[in-house]
Amino acid sequence: MSQSIAHEELISHVLDALKTKVSEFNFNNWFQNSRWFVEGDDENLCIIVSVPNKFVRDWILDNYLELIKFEFFKISNKEYPIVFKVNYQTESTGTEVLVGDVKVAAEKAVETSQPIQAQKIQTAKDNASMPVGVNSRYCFDNFVVGNSNQFVHAACRAVASNPARNYNPLFIYGGVGLGKTHLLNSIALDVLKQEPQSKIVLVSGEQFTNEVINSIRYDKTYDLRKKYRSQCDVLLIDDVQFIAGKERTMEEFFHTFNALYEARKQIVLTSDTLPKDIPNLEERLRSRFSWGLLADIQAPDFETRCAILRKKAEDEDIPMTDEVCHYIASNISTNVRDLEGCLVRISAFASLASVPITLALAKEVLKNVSIDFSPQLTIENIQDTVAKYFNLRVSDLKSARRHKNLAVPRQIAMYLCKKHVKSSFPIIGQKFGGKDHTTVIHAVQKIRKIIPTDGSVRENVENLEKMILQ
Ligand code: ADP
Ligand code: MG
Repeated sequence: MSQSIAHEELISHVLDALKTKVSEFNFNNWFQNSRWFVEGDDENLCIIVSVPNKFVRDWILDNYLELIKFEFFKISNKEYPIVFKVNYQTESTGTEVLVGDVKVAAEKAVETSQPIQAQKIQTAKDNASMPVGVNSRYCFDNFVVGNSNQFVHAACRAVASNPARNYNPLFIYGGVGLGKTHLLNSIALDVLKQEPQSKIVLVSGEQFTNEVINSIRYDKTYDLRKKYRSQCDVLLIDDVQFIAGKERTMEEFFHTFNALYEARKQIVLTSDTLPKDIPNLEERLRSRFSWGLLADIQAPDFETRCAILRKKAEDEDIPMTDEVCHYIASNISTNVRDLEGCLVRISAFASLASVPITLALAKEVLKNVSIDFSPQLTIENIQDTVAKYFNLRVSDLKSARRHKNLAVPRQIAMYLCKKHVKSSFPIIGQKFGGKDHTTVIHAVQKIRKIIPTDGSVRENVENLEKMILQ
């Protein structure tokens, strides 16, 4: 079995490399309970990774797949298909590696299910007809609509039900993790549901750039044009800002845009900013991007964050009390990806430790996460921002006066310092005019507690967070 020993070594190497690249905490969290199999013969090797649940699978796919592929490539110089399966039971001949105690077993027999490529997990539920790049996980049905995304959601729905009739192009812009890719995918899935024959091209600005480079290098511009111009009904480009500053790519995109636009084909673009704020973007593209509808997507408010958490928890059968939901929603306010990450982390902890998800557990787990933490922020910045926001002086925040108009802004400022600067209670007290640490603890707890019920405090905190985190 020299071959399986080689395979076993291959996987051990990759796992060792992963250990050095991800923190111990993350390694234990996401890989500890995985089992790795190598199946197939030398020419057709496939790596199958069995993980305990869908959450872990999706997390690894979103966060570590590239790294894993890269490590395999580095060691073997080959690109193996890597497949993640939930509780995979192999009955086939192959090498199995358990991560926990790195136990290696070679098993025998026949496969129960056909291994599929990692990319396919990300695309349709094993639906081979799904266009490359389209991901069945992100559809309108599981997109939670709230104030922050109502408009853009309506625009996407309109475009999906009537491509190239309403808004062309539709340009969606907003910060990371707010649902741009999710909506773009939803459009693709919806169009396909109505018109299965539609030719949809969904690529990122980065992929488009790579394709342009390769088409030039390998003299394949004809194929590129066929794909993007003559054979495309709906063009969806994610993170289009990536093409800025790349001359040939911008040029190619300009002609692609014109061809599709003239042929009345729908174009949807996403970007992290408005066209006018994308640096190094050609003027003619900038203007075209603004021809149709510009729709922004903002960070979700508290109610929407709670609704998103409830939906995710429900979809994944994670029991979660309102208390825990409010706790996560009030602590993670910047984006949906982080919100999901916290839920995943808490649920992974609960399932690994076989304990229920309580508020205490949520607090414990999130203690190690400083997602909203910004290294440039200082207590002084926060005091300045809060004072300006409430029309006060910083000295008012530091004073001992207890008038309500001062006390609440002061408590909010302390809360924001604890949450975003991660200073200790005594240090925060010291910087607020030499107050005792118990005063700070009281302030932080009070604000944390009233955020879910007091709309005005919540709004103030959210506005301030937007200001200090930008
Ligand atoms: P972006 O492309 O804007 O960086 P994504 O579309 O990748 O963000 O969203 C990040 C994560 O948050 C995804 O898992 C997505 O499904 C989820 N998400 C974002 N907005 C919503 C929403 N309104 N409802 C449900 N899930 C959402
Ligand atoms: Mg995205």
